[in-house]
Amino acid sequence: MSDKEKQPDIIIVGGGPAGLSAAQYAARAGLSAHVFEELAPGGQTLIVDELENYPGFDEPISGFDLADKFAKQAERFGAVIHYGSVDKVTHNEDGSYTVETSDGNFTVPVVIMSTGAKRRELGVPGEKEYQGKGVSYCATCDGPFFKKKRILVVGGGDSACGESLFLSKLSEDIVIVHRKDRFRAQRSIAGMVEHDEHVDVRFMHTVNEIKGDGKKVTSVSLHDSEHDRDYEEQFDAVFIFIGADPRTQLVPFAETDDSGYLVTNELMSTTTPGLYAVGDVRNTPFRQVVTAASDGSIAAHAAAEYIDELKGQAYV
Ligand code: NDP
Repeated sequence: MSDKEKQPDIIIVGGGPAGLSAAQYAARAGLSAHVFEELAPGGQTLIVDELENYPGFDEPISGFDLADKFAKQAERFGAVIHYGSVDKVTHNEDGSYTVETSDGNFTVPVVIMSTGAKRRELGVPGEKEYQGKGVSYCATCDGPFFKKKRILVVGGGDSACGESLFLSKLSEDIVIVHRKDRFRAQRSIAGMVEHDEHVDVRFMHTVNEIKGDGKKVTSVSLHDSEHDRDYEEQFDAVFIFIGADPRTQLVPFAETDDSGYLVTNELMSTTTPGLYAVGDVRNTPFRQVVTAASDGSIAAHAAAEYIDELKGQAYV
């Protein structure tokens, strides 16, 4: 029987830093851990151009390279990475989980959800029409197309501020609009944006409409809520970073908070025994690669103890 055909101890859904870290720790603890990832391992890390705050690297590392290291390290300890989908997770009466995947069905005592979150859209006229024609959600991917162009950034969190700083290396003409009177982002990043001479910060602003000539973005209609006025300005691109929605559809039976994130305790355990959640899909106060990796290690450790307890009760 091949490694892929055995019933694993743990199925990890999603191969970002949180999931791969969980896989590495679980495999190193002697558990059979299988990760399912539909795309390439790395999750959102893949779109980070330069990661300079992941501990242990004295030089910035690209998200792609770091993700590759996460995956290879997990595999070195025996974790199995499937490039496929998880289609359904059923919580059985005996406490186990049946996980239906593109590589067959598995019955396991532990599932770790590492499915991350999906980016939000503004929902304004012109946004969909001009996606790929000036409207973007990824500065690393699309920023270089707008070198020296006039760029609007929307949002007030770490993504909006961090990506503004990235874009300000490409253009001296960045405007960032945020609907509140202060950024939500970490103080260090927000401060850098406010002091960046290439970035014009406009609080209390929202987007009414993204306009274009049919082929590309040409201008944006903005609302200044402080002065209750609408105005239009020329822009070549609009980068939208207004957060994300957690991917929890596979586990509708699990408890979520008001924003839809999976509720976990300090062991990354959800309120459903044997179901753990790590990284951006859970109610965490700080979403970073390092905290995602930390979540994974804690979940794997707790899951190993949980499985040991089950074995003591003659499960599996
Ligand atoms: P956040 O949810 O933190 O921020 C979203 C921002 O978009 C908020 O400022 C929010 O406004 C605004 N917003 C939401 N909906 C709308 C809307 N419809 N119209 C206008 N504005 C809107 O998302 P991020 O993607 O910035 O960050 C996600 C997580 O990832 C965070 O925990 C963050 O810390 C982490 N992260 C860390 C990074 C780093 O440290 N290097 C880099 C990137 C992300 P309001 O404030 O009014 O709610």
